[in-house]
Amino acid sequence: MGTVRDYDVAVIGSGAAGLAAAVAAADSGAAVIVLEAAERVGGSSRLSGGHFFAAGTAVQRQAGIRDDADAMFEHIMTLNQWMLEPAVVRRYCDESAGTLDWVRGLGVEFKPEHVHASGVGSVPRGHVPQGEGLAVVEALDRERARLGVELALSVRATGLLRAEAGRVVGVRAGEDALRAGSVVVATGGFGANPEMIEQHFPDAAAAGDWAWYIGSPEARGDGLALGREVGAAIEGDNHGLLLLTPGFSRDLEIFLPGWLVLVDRAGRRFVDETASYTMMAGLVKRHGGVAFAIFDESARHAAEPNPLNRAYWVNEILAAKADAGRIVRVGSLAELAGSAGIDGEALAGTLERYNADCRRGLDTAFFKHPASGMRPIETPPFYAVEVRPAIIAWTGAGLRIDPEARVMGREERPIHGLYAAGETVGSLHGDRYIGGGGSFGPCLVFGRIAGENAAASALRS
Ligand SMILES: Cc1cc2nc3c(=O)[nH]c(=O)nc-3n(C[C@H](O)[C@H](O)[C@H](O)COP(=O)(O)OP(=O)(O)OC[C@H]3O[C@@H](n4cnc5c(N)ncnc54)[C@H](O)[C@@H]3O)c2cc1C
Repeated sequence: MGTVRDYDVAVIGSGAAGLAAAVAAADSGAAVIVLEAAERVGGSSRLSGGHFFAAGTAVQRQAGIRDDADAMFEHIMTLNQWMLEPAVVRRYCDESAGTLDWVRGLGVEFKPEHVHASGVGSVPRGHVPQGEGLAVVEALDRERARLGVELALSVRATGLLRAEAGRVVGVRAGEDALRAGSVVVATGGFGANPEMIEQHFPDAAAAGDWAWYIGSPEARGDGLALGREVGAAIEGDNHGLLLLTPGFSRDLEIFLPGWLVLVDRAGRRFVDETASYTMMAGLVKRHGGVAFAIFDESARHAAEPNPLNRAYWVNEILAAKADAGRIVRVGSLAELAGSAGIDGEALAGTLERYNADCRRGLDTAFFKHPASGMRPIETPPFYAVEVRPAIIAWTGAGLRIDPEARVMGREERPIHGLYAAGETVGSLHGDRYIGGGGSFGPCLVFGRIAGENAAASALRS
């Protein structure tokens, strides 16, 4: 990017949001460039499952699922006690089905039999692309190339250009400046930026050195910094998705196995251990920020690898971790409580009830499914290992947008010429993650809206 060039629309970032914006802007007749800091396109989106949370889709209809945008809106707002921006959420719900069709039209397949209830609601809204997030990125990138959208790799945007009237009119990348009619910020989250984690995601910071981010190393929160510099409002602090882990090493873990019991430091169970990952971090936080997985020797012997908790809950690994002192392994439950720092009386009571429930085949406290592998905890030695919400899957704080994907200024007016989409946006998430597809879905929906509106605005001005 040695010379100054003019484009109608400059898109910063080439993940799902940025590529969707670039394709939509080019489809609207704009001359578009995508700036990408990395050596290849895709950011965290190429690592993603790519699940897309959507309602009223043709794929749902093929699967015989009755659903619509109204029901999705009500679900998201109720789940988060209306502590969300209704107009932005509404737009997401309204556009989710059409955007899913748009992605299908680019050649990505979503099979009806794979639509699943991906959060805590019972309506199946999680749409799974064949080939996961990478297939979506590749389809969008193919379309980008077909439409003649220029791509500048290894170019990191470091600032925005503003005209006197305050309109954003381009992008700086180090010494270089690129002038554009409008700019779309789609730089992803800030999971790879420890200072921003400290500032905007204190629950993740609370996991201390256990916390780690599973996405792209380029997720440094540049979008927040770029926006802040031109007066953008930032919102959504402490939102994002944390997954539970015993912290043995760095691998994706989504669900806990059903054969263990999770208790807090007070010795109380507080959840169906196999419940959705979307609510686990919130529940652990409510119970003091740490939890302990308790199991016995017979459970350890029977522990088989499972694709949903790939890493550790396997018999030999658990034995090795106990040998290394990383898991408490002792001969009695009283000793276990003492060594792990759990209230022993309460733990004994909790396990009495749990063991009785196992024998009867009914979890009377939390309704864990009997087929989940529930088994009494009674065969010594006994094991306890601390787990924390520490795997950062995505971050939720970011630029405030309106339903047209315009970036809002701190004085409650849109910043002219500036649009944002994807994980860099802070307006979509509340305390509770809506479910698998609740981040990737909005990336595509608002990426497309941002691209269309950025093009319209640039072509008008
Ligand atoms: C392993 C994994 C699985 C996931 N699975 C799901 C799922 O199934 N469903 C779901 O909803 N969510 C999922 N998520 C989250 C979701 O995938 C992400 O939130 C989403 O892909 C982010 O897309 P994006 O376009 O906003 O950002 P990204 O895909 O991260 O793209 C941002 C791009 O911007 C570039 N960039 C950053 N700064 C600059 C700069 N200054 N200048 C130029 N370029 C820059 C980056 O290099 C990157 O390429 C998952 C995340 C991970 C890590």
